[in-house]
Amino acid sequence: MSAKPQLPPTIFVIFGGTGDLNARKLAPALYHLFLEGWLPGQFAIIGTGRTALSDEQFRARLLEGINQFSRTGKADKKTWAAFAEHVVYQAADVKDAATYQQFDKRIGAYQKEWGAPANIIYYLAVAPEFFPIIAENIAQSKLATDADRTRIVIEKPFGHDLESSRELNQLLGRHFTERQIYRIDHYLGKETVQNIMAFRFANALLEPLWNRNYIEHVQISVTEQLGVGERSGYYDGAGALRDMIQNHLLQLLCLVAMEPPVDFTADEVRNRKVDVLRAMRRFAPEDVRESAVRGQYGAGWMEGEQVPGYREEPGANPTSNAETFAAVKFFVDNWRWQGVPFYVRTGKRLHRSASVITIQFRDVPHRIFPAETAESWQQNRLIISIQPEMSIRLQVQAKRPGLDMMLNTVDMVFDYQGTYTNQAPEAYETLLLDTMLGDQTLFMRGDQVEAAWDLIMPILNSWQHRTSQNFPNYSADSWGPEVAEALIARDGFHWFTLPLHGKK
Ligand code: NAP
Repeated sequence: MSAKPQLPPTIFVIFGGTGDLNARKLAPALYHLFLEGWLPGQFAIIGTGRTALSDEQFRARLLEGINQFSRTGKADKKTWAAFAEHVVYQAADVKDAATYQQFDKRIGAYQKEWGAPANIIYYLAVAPEFFPIIAENIAQSKLATDADRTRIVIEKPFGHDLESSRELNQLLGRHFTERQIYRIDHYLGKETVQNIMAFRFANALLEPLWNRNYIEHVQISVTEQLGVGERSGYYDGAGALRDMIQNHLLQLLCLVAMEPPVDFTADEVRNRKVDVLRAMRRFAPEDVRESAVRGQYGAGWMEGEQVPGYREEPGANPTSNAETFAAVKFFVDNWRWQGVPFYVRTGKRLHRSASVITIQFRDVPHRIFPAETAESWQQNRLIISIQPEMSIRLQVQAKRPGLDMMLNTVDMVFDYQGTYTNQAPEAYETLLLDTMLGDQTLFMRGDQVEAAWDLIMPILNSWQHRTSQNFPNYSADSWGPEVAEALIARDGFHWFTLPLHGKK
């Protein structure tokens, strides 16, 4: 194991400290970083929200979150007690500029106690409507004047469309330098997602094949069994295209399609990703129907349980036009990928929860084996499973053992769980550590976010202005609407069944 970096004293100020994200993800991630010795000796977590809480009450909430959501189960009493000493709470309304002085005082007190300046990380785990006011107030209160020592972490969603993402970038740009801004796409922190770059750029055998000459098409599927549940208030204004494709799926696509960076520095990697987004074929309004389809789930049964349709979820709009499923065919217009379709799909209440990238290679140029020797014949496929299974499978044709020549398809598998005994860290652990280290490789740069919005705007506009007449158009526990099958079938392909090797 490599030596752990020596981090300077660090203070996290978590806006939305009383919220779900902190309980579910941030607190467990910080606790694990502490448990595994990544945090510096001098660190503090200042949680904030409007709710009036004592330090003890706030700590109790975090402990509850850790016990419920931590990847290693309940917190150890002694370790928790040691961690909790670093946690305090400050009730404040983010809109009230005067209360920011309280943060200044607390930060000053820590620095005095430690006898050293600290790095300050402002984490905005609040609804996006508060991002601008918090950024303004931090800046006005002069809490982020030292660009070397202060960072601001912005949660998803970053903007609602191209215009709002530009406005937010401009506002942040007035108060912070780009190297202070950490835009989270938690998908990028996942082990399996980071491994795409390792797999592609640390192995010599893939690069000669990684282009239009050998790859026929690419599929990226991120499917969920869960419905929207209580979140329809938020979801109704978002939909699958905004919620998943604009960020997570396009990021996965960039990792598959990007050119090799010169080195593994943040800007070099992010430049290569932006190149992909810029090379992606734009949709003219009349192309949208051909290249993008949407769906909304109806009622049905999932694993023996009756589940409501999207429009019947608690608090949902009974005539909602929000898509809970989206599939899009993209092209990357450059030398490497000309003519290779990238099909992406995502949806809720689908048959299985899985995030999988499949690269389908072209068929052999000539089959020397008679058709009757092939029990199954399949073009080579590389299947990168991101979750819940964490694996990479290369599917090849092989001879079945026996005296006769019979061929079938077999998997060559790299399975994380079988290969490594140590547990993979949660994405938020990686991302919080990188924020402390000042490494922005796994965070979205401003131009990247805008390029992704720019690409999907014609689809968003078209769907917004054209109310779907046939919602709901797929039932729970299916693989989505028929139009998604038609989208890919028109090109002579079909959506691959997602692997069932891991747990559901
Ligand atoms: P949430 O549970 O609704 O929490 C919202 C937080 O904002 C609460 O701590 C609330 O504290 C605080 N807040 C609201 N108004 C405030 C005000 N005027 N002044 C001070 N604090 C205020 O939301 P969440 O699920 O944690 O989500 C937070 C952000 O993370 C959102 O942008 C969301 O899109 C993103 N996100 C969440 C998840 C997740 O798993 N939850 C995953 C990915 C991204 P008080 O009520 O105490 O004021």
